[in-house]
Amino acid sequence: MNDRTRGTLKDGKPWPELPAAQDVDCDGENPTTSCRCVLGHHRGRHRDSSGAEWLDD
Ligand SMILES: [Zn+2]
Repeated sequence: MNDRTRGTLKDGKPWPELPAAQDVDCDGENPTTSCRCVLGHHRGRHRDSSGAEWLDD
């Protein structure tokens, strides 16, 4: 394995593992209003605080 292709921090430690997708809140952003999704982790449509829903492309 070629270490140059692996992500490492400046001190040589590997990047921390990303948490599993189901453990993180949704970071969706309404493309029309730029409001953040308020649903937390979920599947399907996003929704912002105004009740607007959208889907990722
Ligand atoms: Zn969402």
